[in-house]
Amino acid sequence: MAEQLDPYARHPKVIEKPEAEVEGVSLPGQWNRMFEQRVIFDYAQEGLEEITAIPGAESLGQCYQCGKCTGVCPVDIVGSYSPRKIYREAQVGGVDLLRSPNLWLCTTCMNCLRVCPKDVNMIEIMPALREHAVAMGKSVPPELAKAFENTFRHGNPLGEPARKRADWVADAGVPVRVLSKDPAPVDILWWVECYPSYTPRGKDASRALARILTALGVDFGILGSEERCTCDSQRLAGERGLFEMLAEQNIKTLGKYQFNRVLVTDPHALNAFRVHYPKFGGTYETVHYTKFLASRVERLGLRKRIDATITFHDPCYLGRHNGEYNAPRVLIQAIPGARFVDMPRCRENSYCCGGGGGGMWLDSFTGDHVKERLSERRVREAVETGAEILAICCPYEVSRFEDAVKTTGNTGKLVVKDIAELLNEAREDA
Ligand code: SF4
Ligand code: SF4
Repeated sequence: MAEQLDPYARHPKVIEKPEAEVEGVSLPGQWNRMFEQRVIFDYAQEGLEEITAIPGAESLGQCYQCGKCTGVCPVDIVGSYSPRKIYREAQVGGVDLLRSPNLWLCTTCMNCLRVCPKDVNMIEIMPALREHAVAMGKSVPPELAKAFENTFRHGNPLGEPARKRADWVADAGVPVRVLSKDPAPVDILWWVECYPSYTPRGKDASRALARILTALGVDFGILGSEERCTCDSQRLAGERGLFEMLAEQNIKTLGKYQFNRVLVTDPHALNAFRVHYPKFGGTYETVHYTKFLASRVERLGLRKRIDATITFHDPCYLGRHNGEYNAPRVLIQAIPGARFVDMPRCRENSYCCGGGGGGMWLDSFTGDHVKERLSERRVREAVETGAEILAICCPYEVSRFEDAVKTTGNTGKLVVKDIAELLNEAREDA
C-alpha cells in the first residue's frame, strides 16, 4: 500500500501536539492541528497615526479597505488615487501624505463618501490635512498659492480689482441694480461670484441671467464692488483662515442691505451660504439659479427652437453636495427642439470636472499626476453621447470644458454653454 502523504506534516507553520486538552476534551494529533498565527501588521503605524491625529482627519482610520471608493473616484479613473489607496500608503509608511502630491489631487467631489460603508469623509479629511500642511509651511503648489494670495489681496482668486466686479453690467442690455448705489430693499440679492463677474464666458452667462431675471420681473440687485469671493473652494484647499476672514467680511456687507433671498450663480457659493456661513452668523435663504428658474419655467417664454442634442454635467457642489439634480434637467428639457441625453455617469454618480476643492487652481500640478485631465475625460464622455451641446451651470466649468474640447480635438463637435445662455437664446423676446 502506498504511503499516505500528510500535506501538513512538513509545513513549518503547522503546529500539532501529540495530545492536547481543550475545555476537558482530549484532542490527539491532527485534531488539534492549527496554523501558526500569521503576522498581518509587520510595519510601523506611525504614518497613519500622524494623519488620523489631525482634527478633521480622524475618519481615515476607519477605512477597512473594501475598495468601493476606488471604483467611483474620478481621479482614479484617470490615474491612481482613492481613499483606499491613500489609507494603505499611509498605513505601510511608504508615503508621507502631508508631503505627497496626493495631498492636492482630491477634488472633494464626494463620490467616495457616497459609497463608503465606513464614513471615511474626504470632504473633512483633505481640508484638514491641507490646512495642516499649509500651517507647517509644507509645500503648497505655486499656482494654488497664487490663488490664495489673489483672494487675500483682491477678494477674488483671479487677482482682478474689486472696482471692476460689476463691469459686465454695462453690456447686459437691461438695468441691473447695484445696491451700494441704490440701497433700497430688494427681494432677491443675486450673489454673482468671481468667475461670472470677471471672465469673458462667465460674463456672457451673467448677462444672459440678468436678461432672464428682468424678463421675469424679478426685483433683484447685486453687491458689485462690495462683493468678495465666498471662498469655499479656498477653504477646501486648506485656507480656512482666509475663508473665515472673507465669510465675516461678506456677512458684514450683507448686513447693510434688506433682502429676502440670496440667488447664487455658483454652486460653491451655494455650499458656502447653506452649510458654512450660518456658523459665522450668516443665515440666508439661498437658492441656485437653476432651481429658481425651474419653478418659473412656464413663464420663461421659451418659444425659439434650439435643434440640438444637449447633455448636461452635474456640478458636484450642486448635485452630490446639495442634492439638486432635477432643476437643470427641467430647464434643458423645456427648450423647444432640444433633445436631452444624459451621460452614463450622471446625477449621484456624476463625474467631476476637476475644479472642486481647489482643483480649479491646480490644473498644471494635477496634469503631472494623471494620464488625462478630468475635464478632458468628461468632454469625451459628453461627445460619446452624440451631444452637440454640453450644458453646464457652474461657472468653473465653462473654461475647463472649453479648453478640454480643444485639447481632445473636439472643436466643432461640441460647444459648452451655461444653461442661462441656452434659456436666454430660446426666449421669445430675447
Ligand atoms: S469605501 Fe471607505 S472603507 Fe472602503 S476602501 Fe474606500 S475609504 Fe475604505
Ligand atoms: S472626494 Fe472625489 S476626488 Fe476625492 S477621493 Fe473622494 S471620490 Fe476621489
